[in-house]
Amino acid sequence: MSSASISNISTPLLIEESAKGRLGAVLPKCDVEKTALPQDLIRQSLELPELDEASVVRHFTRLSQKNFSVDGQFYPLGSCTMKYNPKMNEEAAAQRGFRFSHPLVQDEYNQGNLELLYRLQESLREITGFEGCSLQGAAGAQGELAGILMIRAYHRSRGDTQRIRVLVPDSAHGTNPATCTMAGFVTETIPSDKNGAVDMDALREAAGVGEKSAADKSTTLAGLMITNPGTLGLFEKNIVEIIRIIHEAGGLVYGDGANMNALMGIVKPGELGFDVMHLNLHKTFSTPHGGGGPGAGAVLAGKTLAVFLPGPVAVRSADSAGSTWFRLEQPPSSIGRLKVFNGNFAVLVRAYAYIRTLGAEGLRRASEYAVLNANYLRFLVKEKYPTPYGADRPCMHEFTASPDLGNGIHTIDIAKRLIDYGFHPPTVYFPLIVKEAFMAEPTETENRETLEAFAAALVSIAGEAQTNPELLKEAPRHTPVGRLDETAAARNPVLRW
Ligand SMILES: *Cc1c(COP(=O)(O)O)cnc(C)c1O
Repeated sequence: MSSASISNISTPLLIEESAKGRLGAVLPKCDVEKTALPQDLIRQSLELPELDEASVVRHFTRLSQKNFSVDGQFYPLGSCTMKYNPKMNEEAAAQRGFRFSHPLVQDEYNQGNLELLYRLQESLREITGFEGCSLQGAAGAQGELAGILMIRAYHRSRGDTQRIRVLVPDSAHGTNPATCTMAGFVTETIPSDKNGAVDMDALREAAGVGEKSAADKSTTLAGLMITNPGTLGLFEKNIVEIIRIIHEAGGLVYGDGANMNALMGIVKPGELGFDVMHLNLHKTFSTPHGGGGPGAGAVLAGKTLAVFLPGPVAVRSADSAGSTWFRLEQPPSSIGRLKVFNGNFAVLVRAYAYIRTLGAEGLRRASEYAVLNANYLRFLVKEKYPTPYGADRPCMHEFTASPDLGNGIHTIDIAKRLIDYGFHPPTVYFPLIVKEAFMAEPTETENRETLEAFAAALVSIAGEAQTNPELLKEAPRHTPVGRLDETAAARNPVLRW
């Protein structure tokens, strides 16, 4: 994006509306003695717009409305779970007691906040079936790093320092291999079979428990990191056997639980045998993802790893008079802190409010609707937007299609054309194993009419690809700036003007 294209839609508008002498504020009478500034400090020409307040407010309001938002449009960005977030949770997080409490306040003045942390930990443990929970993480990826460092700490505590390999299926979220590398492990990719499931022979072989495996393979295995449901939107049906194989080889299993919004109230990953997992509290439990704002990557662990959780965590005990008392405590072999104070506290308040307002039944229903909506949408567009993996199985909360509309039309053209129809595009070109990947996640909060309108737009775009492909190549046409050179924007970002 060039600086010219940015300024076209912002500053000049203000300059154009400027009228000499117009003011947006009334300044109080100057009550100090005026002194002349040195001439060299005064800029001789400074072209500032002169406007009334209403024009300025309207200018910025117009600009804000040119953006896409969950409150404004359908936003099916796969993996990001851009669902509508109840305003009540915002109100809960904005309450004075939460907002103004100082993170260093003594426990006796902070019992309410500590109790909220404790109750949220307990709720998440109940939802996932794990032994321990830490709310320190500020993002999903930070939760991942914590979990992988816990696996490292476990092996080190046993003197197993030769365990340096982590297996990662090729349908994993991109952060998974990045996390392993960052923690100093060697990542090995396990391919998917033609149904989008983990290739079990390749897994056994890499874990060192296959008939053909080299003898030393299992002794260097640190574990497996798996996203389930994966980025193909499929539940890994062999997950229990996969976990058994990794455990047999002496490794531990990390579950990327960012997609828990497909499983709440239906499956408890802790009971499947996972050793550690993170949840994206932003995404699954209120607070939108993708705005670049704060997140929360809660980390949950089973018996083996709970002692290594990042801390402090909230615990419940009793004071000397026997009354309930909440305080913070470091797990015994903790990998340490991830963040100052108590994580992104306001995100935690929203998650707690979300869980309590929905209740057990409501959480399960949210997951059921997320899955139903994704399957309905996938069905409505399956002719032109087929799913290459697992087409004969139901998908989870999202699906990854591989459109082939002909006439040289690529997924990026479809994505850009959707903007003209008033929809935010889905995630594109990810995961890498799907050609021209188009990954849509409608979420549970969309009604039938919205899903059908989106499907109709996709079908209409498929028609345009035949009759008028230029329309797609030149899209978007109805936005202040048209098709941007995304490579140049990424390589040479112009962040100010
Ligand atoms: C979003 C997501 C992540 C990373 O979460 P961030 O909060 O963006 O760091 C990891 N795994 C999956 C499957 C995700 O969808």
